[in-house]
Amino acid sequence: MSNSTLFKPEMLTFHQCAKCGTLDAACINTCAKCLASEMNPVQIAGVGKLVSWTTVRKPPLRFKADGMYHVGVFDLDNGFRVTGRFLPEDGDQLGDRVIAVPTTITEPTGPITPTFRVQKNV
Ligand SMILES: [Zn+2]
Repeated sequence: MSNSTLFKPEMLTFHQCAKCGTLDAACINTCAKCLASEMNPVQIAGVGKLVSWTTVRKPPLRFKADGMYHVGVFDLDNGFRVTGRFLPEDGDQLGDRVIAVPTTITEPTGPITPTFRVQKNV
């Protein structure tokens, strides 16, 4: 089995304007560039690098059952900067390559929160 199958990233949903092709990370109905009103969901591979991360020791009420957790900022290879959950391990450093992994965390008001971890070279 090759590494590419071992580390197949989760796909993240973006929205793309049907008229001008502008991509948006948010779930919106109107293109911010040309104001067209047809935005289609597209799947983008969740791969990029770790920009920053922190630990939430006192989670908000809706995540209280999770206990302490980690959130990160990630620069995807398609140029977008996204936030999500982070699963840190010893030795992880800023700038490390990250991939999105399967997650079940959902925000009360929105889509599934992406979860990332550093891509290890095995
Ligand atoms: Zn557009």
